[in-house]
Amino acid sequence: MKVTIEQLRQWDKESYVCLDIRGQIPYQHGHIEGAVCFGEGDVRNETEHEQLLKNVNGKKVVVYCSYGEKSKDVVEQLYEKGIEAYNLEGGFRAWLLDNAVEKKEYSVVYEGQENANEKNVFSRDEILRYDRQMILPQIGMKGQQKLKEGRVLIVGAGGLGSPAGLYLAGAGVGKIGIIDADEVSLSNLQRQIIHRSSNVHENKAISAARAMRELNDTIEYKVYTDFLTAENVEEIVAGYDFVIDGADNFETKFLINDACVLLKKAFCHAGILQFQGQLMTYVPKKGPCYRCIFEEIPAPGSVPNCSQAGVTGALAGIIGSMQALEAVKYLTGAGELLTGKILQFNGLTMKSRILKFPRGNRSCRVCGEKADIRSVRENREEYRRQGYCFFL
Ligand SMILES: [Zn+2]
Repeated sequence: MKVTIEQLRQWDKESYVCLDIRGQIPYQHGHIEGAVCFGEGDVRNETEHEQLLKNVNGKKVVVYCSYGEKSKDVVEQLYEKGIEAYNLEGGFRAWLLDNAVEKKEYSVVYEGQENANEKNVFSRDEILRYDRQMILPQIGMKGQQKLKEGRVLIVGAGGLGSPAGLYLAGAGVGKIGIIDADEVSLSNLQRQIIHRSSNVHENKAISAARAMRELNDTIEYKVYTDFLTAENVEEIVAGYDFVIDGADNFETKFLINDACVLLKKAFCHAGILQFQGQLMTYVPKKGPCYRCIFEEIPAPGSVPNCSQAGVTGALAGIIGSMQALEAVKYLTGAGELLTGKILQFNGLTMKSRILKFPRGNRSCRVCGEKADIRSVRENREEYRRQGYCFFL
């Protein structure tokens, strides 16, 4: 026995009970109004089954899963027990689509919401577009909503910013800022995959924003065609929740760190060279900052840069994608961040390791006990670009 969304709409709401068999976590992230959470395994549990019979109280039972496939077996099992059970065709996704913001008759309930009749806030396009991540228990509808409300700034539309920007646009981060004053050059295209050959000589931030908009035009983009400096960093970073450090020089990396520490913003640092990459995520009050570990900007020439030492494109893609993943996890609360840890990845051996830094550095100049950097503007000389292109 099956029922479509259209047929269900004709039924008297008092005549049926919905059973959500997707499991506790997806249920908590959003379910059909009035539905009972009923794990697949529970159907075989006699006690649960007796309980269900009591609750059903002669009503029809509509069973749904994510797409309407897994629920078929449950419907059969219930039918054998003498319950008038129906499989909801297309499952929860069909319900979501029917319930998109263009229509107002139905509601989706988020557990813990004060107003149980809060309307679904996703459009049909959004439900289809983000379907594969919205069905993840760790993200769900709540997580997608957090992504939609999230604001991420990407510093540098280069080897790291390219994959990070594309994946964050694809994931539906509500506002993406991109800052880069450089122009696309032919030698960038080997790794800076957000740009095309036709974009050579164009400003990188403009080129990157166009590519992201082509991927997803339902979100907001803010383009900055300047370098990030001690003068503009505070004003720009203040408008975002998370920063992706895709900068190509140490001065900017320290500038991002110091500004984020002072403004209490989270960011993900990354650096790449040849076949190796590293990344760490700073979250205010939850671990050391970049300066706690690396302390001072290296002297010019003391560290080789990519134009001297080279870098592989796919390695930039791996590390930049990891930065995007850290941003998604930070915004949605999924998983564990690289806070107080540095992940190092070697593309030649495919080995990675995580170095742990459980505490901040007491003598850190920006977050230590006697920190002397209280404002990046007042310490602007710290961040003067002494060289160029250390990483990327
Ligand atoms: Zn620090």
